[in-house]
Amino acid sequence: MSKKVLITGAAGFLGSHLCERFVNEGFHVIGMDNLITGRMSNLEHLKNEANFEFVNHDISEHIDVETGLDYILHFASPASPIDYLKIPIQTLKVGSLGTHNCLGLAKAKNARIIVASTSEVYGDPTVHPQTEDYWGNVNPVGPRGVYDEAKRFQEAITMAYHTYHGVETRIVRIFNTYGPRMRLNDGRVLPAFIGQALRGEDLTIFGDGSQTRSFCFVDDLVEGIYRLLMSDCPNPVNVGNPDEISIGDFAEEIIKLTGTNQKVIYKDLPVNDPKQRQPDISKAIELLGWTPKIDRAEGLRITYDYFRSLPEEELYKKEHNNFEKYIKK
Ligand code: UDP
Repeated sequence: MSKKVLITGAAGFLGSHLCERFVNEGFHVIGMDNLITGRMSNLEHLKNEANFEFVNHDISEHIDVETGLDYILHFASPASPIDYLKIPIQTLKVGSLGTHNCLGLAKAKNARIIVASTSEVYGDPTVHPQTEDYWGNVNPVGPRGVYDEAKRFQEAITMAYHTYHGVETRIVRIFNTYGPRMRLNDGRVLPAFIGQALRGEDLTIFGDGSQTRSFCFVDDLVEGIYRLLMSDCPNPVNVGNPDEISIGDFAEEIIKLTGTNQKVIYKDLPVNDPKQRQPDISKAIELLGWTPKIDRAEGLRITYDYFRSLPEEELYKKEHNNFEKYIKK
């Protein structure tokens, strides 16, 4: 009998890669998603797998799973700044109520659970690089507060279920990640720049481009998550690639990669946009024996090939989500 895994946010970018990994490892995977930001096309290649099933459900409501479960991976949440600005209440609910439901399910099924936290718990960090013992610098009422505070609450309630109920919990703090199946229009910098290059538009740098990020290729991230889930560490662990780059230099890399000779143009920096971000991954190295293996040059090439292979009309779609029914008119 194969072990059973529930993956929330299954039709999203990370969720779909996790489903694939767990199916390939021989688990029986139940993928769950309400498709507000996820897309069934991300799971197309798994739909005929005998050990994969999909359930359309909003996990902010009570979750019913009839069978036993060995593991839960809680990855449901809008995750890009433009998404959580458009659906702030759903973002808060899935991080809080959704996490509560997942933890309750883990307790009822005696399953181990890993929750997707984020470098956003560090906010606009005053410590660099960010270590897990840094408490962060978050504006609770700023535009990112709905995501950041939901994720901070998520960590708190996850730890409470561990200490109070003895649930086996894991917390992964995910730094900027990229790869195939990101939504072209999710607003994040990599799909934004590649989409602009492919449409022949100038690349939009927010602010002066001196802010930094550290980008991890999705396969490396999935490996880190897998190892953390199988480890015995209940405390938060950073998983990301420490190779830091300014957004200005990143734009140059994309222009070189795409060979498109686009110019860059400058736009206003969004409010509370973190100035720098780089994971300290000493803990992941020590506890999980994990380091990222795919450098940016290779990861960007794979990702660019994916975006290039999409039908041309995808490049011009305004929205790639199902917000309509959730947005208050
Ligand atoms: N950014 C940019 N141009 C864009 C989209 C994003 O310069 O078209 C910047 C954004 O202001 C931020 C960085 O790129 O400083 C990374 O943004 P992203 O939304 O990808 O992730 P996050 O800010 O959550 O790390």
